[in-house]
Formats: sequence, structure tokens, C-alpha cells
Amino acid sequence: MTIKENIELIENDIKKYSKDGANLLCVTKTHGIDTIKTVYDLGYRDFGENKVQELLEKKQELPKDIRWHLIGHLQRNKVKKIIGEVFLIHSVDSFRLLEEIDKVASKKNLIQDILIQVNISKEDTKGGFYIEELENLFKNIEQFRNVRVLGLMTIAPNIEDEQYISSVFRELKKIFDKLSKLSYNNIDMKYISMGMTNDYILALKEGSNIIRIGSKIFGKRVYK
Ligand SMILES: *Cc1c(COP(=O)(O)O)cnc(C)c1O
Repeated sequence: MTIKENIELIENDIKKYSKDGANLLCVTKTHGIDTIKTVYDLGYRDFGENKVQELLEKKQELPKDIRWHLIGHLQRNKVKKIIGEVFLIHSVDSFRLLEEIDKVASKKNLIQDILIQVNISKEDTKGGFYIEELENLFKNIEQFRNVRVLGLMTIAPNIEDEQYISSVFRELKKIFDKLSKLSYNNIDMKYISMGMTNDYILALKEGSNIIRIGSKIFGKRVYK
């Protein structure tokens, strides 16, 4: 299977399983410039990386019209490097990180678009806010002048139980819809980022509009 064929399969699944359409975010982490260019040449412009350094290096070498997404945990000491460099940060997982992003964005005189990462299944190994914290969090976000929240993101547990995984996605969609009805200045609920190679069909069925796919496009990742 070629990258092109893999992507065609995914696009077909999007047509088949998503009610309102979804965007394919190509997760390019660990893959080289030439591989990424293949996807660029097919017309894709949304690429996701999980490490700040790797993202910035690739950004330098690739065309300027790419929209870069940071999808991995962001350490506070790396915020300075990434603010203003990315279209969207999916992985805002703590209040202190939010404060730091706002501070740095303010110094750079820009507004950084972000998603709030939610830890639906309350796994210790995962970052993110709990569902119960979100309403309060959204009230507190009003104080920030230099971040804009464009939606929510989650990573489902890496297990076989499809019903459970679907229930996780359903929960996120439910809270997404609820929060979408509130109106705050710097919140504009557009994106619900859920679904990876192993679970994106379930996520599409539950209303995801950004699926983050790596292995299904590029094959298995090889870590050096
Ligand atoms: C790596 C990664 C993905 C893509 O994973 P695949 O299983 O290869 O599709 C999606 N989201 C996040 C947060 C990731 O770190």
C-alpha cells in the first residue's frame, strides 16, 4: 500500500462514517522531509507533531503554507519556542500551561489558538482536564487575553474494548456540545479532535471533526 492509497481509504471512511465531515490531520512525527512532501503533494496542509524541536526543524525545511499542529504534551519551558509557530496546540492539559501560553502570547503580541485536552477515562498516565473541571475552567479562561479556545481534544485508552472507547468519545462530544452553548469572548468551539489509527472510525461515528492519523498513513513508526 502506498501513502496515497492509505489516505484514500481514510478519506472514504470519513465520507462513510462522519455525519458532518472531518479533517484529516497527518501525524508526521518521526517521518522525514521527503515522506512528508509526498503528503504535501497530495494536497494536505495540516500536519501534527508531538515534539517542539522536531516540529520547528521540519517547519523550517517545508513550505510555508503548512498548518502545524502540536499534539503532544507541551512543557512550560518550551512554550516560548512554540507560540506563534503553530496553527493549533491540541494538548493544553493544565492551568499552569494555559497561564504560560497566555503570558508568552501576550509578550509576542498575538493570540494563540488552542484546544483543551480532556482525560475522559481518568488514566494516571495521561494528561488533561477531567470533565467535571471544564465548566469552571471555561469561566477562568475569560481572564486570558491572548489565548483562544477552539475546542477539545482527547486520546482514548489504548485497549481493545470498542464499546468503552466509543463511550469515551461520546462523553467528549456531549461536553463539547454543552460547552458550545455557553458564550465567552475567547472561546469558539469549532474543533473536536479525537481518533487515531486504531480508533478513528469509532471517533468519526461519535462526531469527531479532526482525526489525527500517523501509522495508517505512513506505516509503523521507527524510533531511533
Ligand atoms: C502519535 C499520535 C497520534 C497518531 O497516532 P497513530 O496511532 O500513529 O495514528 C495521534 N495523536 C497523538 C496525540 C499522538 O501522539
